[in-house]
Amino acid sequence: MTALQMPATHPAPPTSPAVTALPTLALRDVSKVYHDGDTEITALHPTTFEVRPGELVAVNGPSGSGKSTLLSIAGALLRPSTGQVLIAGQDVTRLSERDLPAFRLRHIGFVLQSSNLIPYLTVREQLTLIPRLAHADPRQARAQADELLRTLGIEARAGHYPDALSGGQKQRVAIARALMNRPGLILADEPTASLDSVRGREVVQLLAHEVRTQNKAAVMVTHDERVLDLCDRVVTMVDGRLRG
Ligand code: ADP
Ligand code: MG
Repeated sequence: MTALQMPATHPAPPTSPAVTALPTLALRDVSKVYHDGDTEITALHPTTFEVRPGELVAVNGPSGSGKSTLLSIAGALLRPSTGQVLIAGQDVTRLSERDLPAFRLRHIGFVLQSSNLIPYLTVREQLTLIPRLAHADPRQARAQADELLRTLGIEARAGHYPDALSGGQKQRVAIARALMNRPGLILADEPTASLDSVRGREVVQLLAHEVRTQNKAAVMVTHDERVLDLCDRVVTMVDGRLRG
């Protein structure tokens, strides 16, 4: 039924977009078995997991519990052994290897533990590299990069190379870079691992702000207890199973 066809007596929908919107990310009965020679390792037992627009979800749990596997599947970097992965409504397990990179570029922003900046590019160039390769309008890409750097409080660093930045600044650049393509889904694997607690909180606060104001969905794998209160939800992985 469309909105126009709704009877006048229909109750008003809840106002929070996080409650009403379709999930940006939905894992349905997703599992992963790795084959290491003759041994099978079940890194992920059948798991169902959803993240909605405006939601920042933390995933914690011991080393080897399957967090990175979960995140790689959620980012369409790794194919699950079973199940469906829906990103922005598209079942990515049905996309071909040829179509996946463009899909990821359009819908997903990745932030990794070590910021993975390219040493010979300036901060601004880290952000405009992909638009340049995609033949986007360079002035527009530069304007967008500068706006993101301003939002993240590192505009003064735009012309610097990564080795001139502190750990916290590098992670902010990595977040800015992940946001350049305006993805609906942000996936972060231990983004605060290399930071002290003050910088770690700052980085997650920026991420949370971006998620809430831009209605993005984000999943952050973290061991960092000090940032969990900044998240909307915390789920824990234990032996390949999700709890919470
Ligand atoms: P976490 O990120 O929580 O440390 P991972 O998802 O990296 O956990 O790993 C979950 C389990 O899967 C571990 O037992 C790990 O050894 C195993 N594993 C991860 N990647 C591979 C792989 N490429 N091949 C075989 N086993 C793997
Ligand atoms: Mg991991």
